[in-house]
Amino acid sequence: MTEESKDLHSIQNLKGVGPKGASSLNNLGIFSIPDAAFHLPFRYEDRSFITPISEANYQTNVLVEGEIMKSTVVFRGRRMLFSEIYDGTGRITMRMFNFAMAQHKALETGKMIRCFGVITPGPNGKQMIHPQYQVFEKDDVIEIDKNLTPIYPTTSGLQQNKLKKIIESSLDFCDQNNLLKEESKDKNYSEYGNLLETLKFLHKPPVETNLNELIEGKHPAQKSLIKEELIAHMLCAGILKNELEGRKGPSMKDESKHEDNFLNSLPFDLTNAQQKVWKEISSDLMAEVPMRRLLQGDVGSGKTLVGALAALHAESNGWQTALLCPTEILAEQHYNSFKDWFEEIGLNVKILTGSTKAKERKVLITELASGEIDILIGTHAIFQLGVEFKNLGLTVIDEQHRFGVHQRFSMLEKGGADNQSPHQLIMTATPIPRTLAMTVYGSLETSIIDELPPGRNPVKTSSRPDSFRDKVIKRVEEVCLTDKRAYWVCTLIEDSDELEAQSAEELFKEISSSLPKLKVGLVHGRLKKEQKDSVIDQFRKGLIQLLVCTTVIEVGVDVPEATLMIIENPERLGLSQLHQLRGRVGRKANTESHCLLLYKEPLSVLAEERIKTMEATNDGFQIAEKDLELRGAGDIYGLRQSGLMDLKIANPIRDSDLLVDAQKEALEIGKNEIEFAKTIVDRWIGNRVDYSDS
Ligand code: ADP
Ligand code: MG
Repeated sequence: MTEESKDLHSIQNLKGVGPKGASSLNNLGIFSIPDAAFHLPFRYEDRSFITPISEANYQTNVLVEGEIMKSTVVFRGRRMLFSEIYDGTGRITMRMFNFAMAQHKALETGKMIRCFGVITPGPNGKQMIHPQYQVFEKDDVIEIDKNLTPIYPTTSGLQQNKLKKIIESSLDFCDQNNLLKEESKDKNYSEYGNLLETLKFLHKPPVETNLNELIEGKHPAQKSLIKEELIAHMLCAGILKNELEGRKGPSMKDESKHEDNFLNSLPFDLTNAQQKVWKEISSDLMAEVPMRRLLQGDVGSGKTLVGALAALHAESNGWQTALLCPTEILAEQHYNSFKDWFEEIGLNVKILTGSTKAKERKVLITELASGEIDILIGTHAIFQLGVEFKNLGLTVIDEQHRFGVHQRFSMLEKGGADNQSPHQLIMTATPIPRTLAMTVYGSLETSIIDELPPGRNPVKTSSRPDSFRDKVIKRVEEVCLTDKRAYWVCTLIEDSDELEAQSAEELFKEISSSLPKLKVGLVHGRLKKEQKDSVIDQFRKGLIQLLVCTTVIEVGVDVPEATLMIIENPERLGLSQLHQLRGRVGRKANTESHCLLLYKEPLSVLAEERIKTMEATNDGFQIAEKDLELRGAGDIYGLRQSGLMDLKIANPIRDSDLLVDAQKEALEIGKNEIEFAKTIVDRWIGNRVDYSDS
């Protein structure tokens, strides 16, 4: 694709996509219109028939339709909206916790409603909590979808229906502009005509398609795409490797003059595991080739310090370091640690995030370009145009799973002078099985911190149903009154900042009024940075004893005095996310910490299994393995979220049977058909990789 056509095909140019929509789509890895066509459903629902309410079974997803008999708002601890629906065969209650007044108004008595959701037992018999619904007049004829309904992975601020429409128009766009119509090598495509037709099929399979095959990712249409995607990543890793082979790493031959001093200034010794990985990393830094190393270590294993040692080493050799964080909170926190550690030694550490004021930013940019700044800590604001380093020698990327391939590559380019490429250290708490790492990262080396600092006690984890709520609240009070601190984490089904903030606020009200003796604080994603900072700071200092929060707290917040965590609705979260959250407690030596999972009944089999796993182990590697096992087939989205993959459709665990074949074909294509190689790398990884053929 030429630069110009890339521009024309930019997702912003699709009808109905505004700047805000485009930025949400970017978060999903969708930059171009064809990218949207590749954004495949992660599951499907059969909404092709209406089930009479009397025949709808518990714990199944059904489409029901009936008349709204009554809609009322009630207060039971929190505000709820009940709508009673009757279809001539039976009654069902629709129940919502988060709703706008306009929604209440629209659910008018006498109107018709069609809902899709899971049936659960409620106080008045069958109920649906937060179903998808559509209200209409009695005379309206509402068509029924005769295809399977696709459900897409989405992101905050982008609703399922909106995303669905965008994808539909991207498919039309591709059709009209003759995009993605190439034949593939894979015979399986031919059944559908070409790549685009294969994609169209997967976005809207007819109801008679084998749903199990689809869910398990075993449908021939999926398999042909999966194989091609694996090939694309293998090729890309190969292409990158070739490119890197020609490049030199920044020379950092000198031992750091500050290292001993710095280590002596710490109140503890490095663990053996930290020493081991630091040896591996420092020898990489001293070599001539750019380092590409993945540093894995469970939450709390002390990765930050290792990253700091690397930065110190770079500075002693005259190079700048960039430390990239997925959230502002984390950037802030690392900034404080680095300042504590390094300011005395005379290093210049600065921070750059989305909230950095324009004036400060300007100063920062000048100082960076002149080389005055030694270490820049920040969020993806660092990727923005205009941020140029004088001599970037090292990038450290924390909790890599929030950064896509795209961003890793753009950091490589930042230091690209004189055929040099900065060293790169990627730190993650999510263990990545070797085969996966090979597929996706190709040439990445791995270091593992397999030991926690001494004196850490595993977090004792238990679970209780929501009926224990009052007891739990009392217990929290007891704990917090003995000079300890606690988190109360609120989770939400839908991925929406706004709803999440709303329910966190409600929880905050509930908890503050039931615990008048405690100072309770609140943080969620919708707060201004200053507010967030101030609350977390007060919590750190003990001025706030109980912190009600959303999962924004998941990444990296470090308040060792917090020894208790309550997680609401843990059944909504994946294992890795639960483990990450829990990692916020149990950080103080020789102190026992607790985590309580306060779940809603009834639990699904999988949710129960996840909760049991959390109770049984604190070992991140075991948890990651169990996570993959429980996710089983089909849940690529989860896999992607957990940070293991930046893949659109392939899941190297599920699709391991295709790996060998894919590898063979990739070698063949890489050797003999370089043009085709570029086509498919472009197709699957697209503008996220900038490789040059010159
Ligand atoms: P993570 O690997 O999750 O990023 P951190 O780097 O945030 O972990 O470290 C967690 C806590 O452990 C921090 O408070 C850090 O200062 C402390 N820590 C790091 N290394 C050691 C050590 N060798 N001994 C004791 N405490 C340590
Ligand atoms: Mg960390």
